[in-house]
Amino acid sequence: MEQLMKDFFLFLSKNKALNAAAKKWGLRFGANRFVSGETIEEAISKVRELNEKGLVCTLDHLGEFVFSTEEANESADYCIKTLEAIYKSGVDCNLSLKMTSLGLDISRELCINNMRRILEFARDHGNIFVRIDMEDYAHKNITLEILHELLEDYSNVGTVIQAYLYDTVGDIEALKDKKVNLRLVKGAYKESPEVAFPNKADVDENYKKIIKQHLLYGNYAAVATHDDAIIDYVKKLEKEYNIPRTQFEFQMLYGIRTQTQIDLANEGYKMRVYVPYGNDWYGYFMRRLAERPANVAFVLKGMFTK
Ligand code: FAD
Repeated sequence: MEQLMKDFFLFLSKNKALNAAAKKWGLRFGANRFVSGETIEEAISKVRELNEKGLVCTLDHLGEFVFSTEEANESADYCIKTLEAIYKSGVDCNLSLKMTSLGLDISRELCINNMRRILEFARDHGNIFVRIDMEDYAHKNITLEILHELLEDYSNVGTVIQAYLYDTVGDIEALKDKKVNLRLVKGAYKESPEVAFPNKADVDENYKKIIKQHLLYGNYAAVATHDDAIIDYVKKLEKEYNIPRTQFEFQMLYGIRTQTQIDLANEGYKMRVYVPYGNDWYGYFMRRLAERPANVAFVLKGMFTK
């Protein structure tokens, strides 16, 4: 039943008509539990509140389905506006983005040009770090190729490695000497057993393996999970191998396990909250529901209270 619901919400997340309609609705159905606001002003104000609680943040301007060069450039402009707002407001926050929204599916050159524009602005305005979110497997190799190219010229960029993929250990090994800051996650997309571990237990084991691998290489890890077993594992590694707290951080999504986020910050860990904003919230919201159908209860409540 749970798998059916997951598949249903992943199916809904790809519905272009609903996605287009949702932009006009405003944040509805309880989406404001997971999306910080529609405007950059609302998002910065949420980031400031989180900073006051000892949490650092990464902002993501939500965007799905980019079909034209104009839309890709517009999306890059939004990233730059977001960086400008972070810089001017002085909040403790960096930026996360998706390369498909910068035109990766249109042309590699368009995407790289947009990435360079964003990274240069970020470097010149407080050297803000920019994280390339990892999308589905079809985009994995090209994302890593582009990252390797960008690392030749910029040090304020990193990406995400997904533990559910068989390639993961090799991909981390290939980045070892570049000293890159990697976010490590379990993986959020529906992938075939040809490329990804079908069993959750194997994903969890591989996740632990790559966290240890990356940390013992001496590189910076952002461990992005809501899973206590993984958080405890990182704490165990910290003690066992004397890993300094300046070499890793925890990350969680806005609106999920908020008290745990605060507890980790109070324990002295760097805790970064992924804060999405924008009017293109529909796909992101559906993916959060797919991840944890228990959240549907919030949606039902939202439908009657909004
Ligand atoms: P799960 O295996 O989903 O859950 C383990 C346990 O954690 C649960 O049993 C429960 O106890 C607890 N838990 C999980 N969710 C909740 C909840 N909503 N409320 C309460 N408890 C909960 N994926 C990508 O593919 N690419 C990315 O770029 C990417 N970026 C991410 C960035 C951040 C900051 C985070 C947190 C996740 C990101 N993900 C990304 C998603 C990630 O891959 C997982 O799909 C997602 O985090 C769920 O896995 P989990 O590790 O939290 O644990």
